[in-house]
Amino acid sequence: MTLQTFTDEPAHVGELRRTVARFVAAHAPREKRIAWDKAHDWPRDVYAEFNKLGLTALTIPEAHGGAGQDIVAAIAVIEELAQAGPALAGPYIHTAFYGGLNLSENGSDAQKAEYLPRLARGELFFAYGLSEPDVGGDLASVTTRARLEGDEVVIDGAKRWCSGADWADVLYTLVRSGPAEDRYRNLSFVLVPRTTPGVTMQPIEHANLRYMASQDVFFDQVRVPAANIVGGESMWNQGWKILAGRALDVEKLEITAVALGIARAAVTEAWDYAQSRIQFGKPIAQHQAIRHKLVTARTKLQAARHMLYHAAWLAGEGRPCSIETSMAKLFVADTGVEIALICQQVMGAYGLSDAFDMERHVRDLLGMPIVGGSSDMQKNNLAGLWKL
Ligand SMILES: Cc1cc2nc3c(=O)[nH]c(=O)nc-3n(C[C@H](O)[C@H](O)[C@H](O)COP(=O)(O)OP(=O)(O)OC[C@H]3O[C@@H](n4cnc5c(N)ncnc54)[C@H](O)[C@@H]3O)c2cc1C
Repeated sequence: MTLQTFTDEPAHVGELRRTVARFVAAHAPREKRIAWDKAHDWPRDVYAEFNKLGLTALTIPEAHGGAGQDIVAAIAVIEELAQAGPALAGPYIHTAFYGGLNLSENGSDAQKAEYLPRLARGELFFAYGLSEPDVGGDLASVTTRARLEGDEVVIDGAKRWCSGADWADVLYTLVRSGPAEDRYRNLSFVLVPRTTPGVTMQPIEHANLRYMASQDVFFDQVRVPAANIVGGESMWNQGWKILAGRALDVEKLEITAVALGIARAAVTEAWDYAQSRIQFGKPIAQHQAIRHKLVTARTKLQAARHMLYHAAWLAGEGRPCSIETSMAKLFVADTGVEIALICQQVMGAYGLSDAFDMERHVRDLLGMPIVGGSSDMQKNNLAGLWKL
């Protein structure tokens, strides 16, 4: 077996990181980051400027107007954007991953031709409609119903926590397309344009990922062309294959990259703070209890980085990576919570004040073991994959 994991990051990824880092430093100062979080929104003007870098093309093949799929590079972009919290990384994911990656992997030829060039240019946003009021981790139990009527799909039901649904162009919606007893064999994904008659929504208040207000979305006799079934009509009732396929493996990496990026921002902030805050006549970084906390947090961060980029590298190589992506999501999300709590303690009262980023980092990191497939779900996946 060749150990190909201990290599330097490719030079072009390093260059990309520096470009995004310069952008974040110039356009996302702390006062703006705090304002975006309070507003429960993301900055259209700053994101439009970022989009000129063309980086949403990184998840899309050249044949469809993309830059060629470069998973490690796209994950590094998320990590760097997350230095500003979720306000820029969030919208990037809605285009590059929810849209670009999913349709590159699962779209029909017509869907690829229609959507991918625009996603590559960063002109479209997708939202993910998986969860429902009574369905969280158990996605095979979704109850939003869809039926074929001639050349149309008719949808009735409700989705919950559909992040970005109020500004996304397309809702990537998981529906029950046959009798509930069949569970895995009658699920489908359908592309529902947000403005389709019969789609209504209601915002949800939440403490984390406040680049948007997540939405309850209601579908009342919503009609879309059967051509909007993800993968085309032959994929009717084949949604579980999509859900359990490569796109979802890679999908786990995108939220993991947000977790790593925010954990890194937390360590950076606590590290700098500890060197400038004087107590008992010296910087608190010189008190052993604080030094140890910071060293522990930085070591955990490094372990998390290895988990994420090893999995991303496997995914980018097109190798099997279900195990590694699940382990990365589990480890980085859980470790992110540990890092958040350590770094918040280092900053004392200021780790809870809205004059710093730390209290937002803590809120965002606390949610990571829940969103995007909970830590418990990853453990269930892994136990199954390892045939425990
Ligand atoms: C800010 C935010 C944004 C979100 N964005 C989206 C989005 O865009 N699209 C979307 O579809 N969803 C989204 N979600 C929903 C998110 O994916 C779900 O919260 C997540 O899947 C977990 O579902 P749940 O919270 O309903 O937990 P439940 O499934 O009800 O589980 C509750 C607890 O029990 C545990 N548990 C449940 N079943 C088992 C089991 N079999 N074994 C062991 N433990 C178990 C879970 O791990 C969890 O800790 C978002 C959530 C938040 C908070």
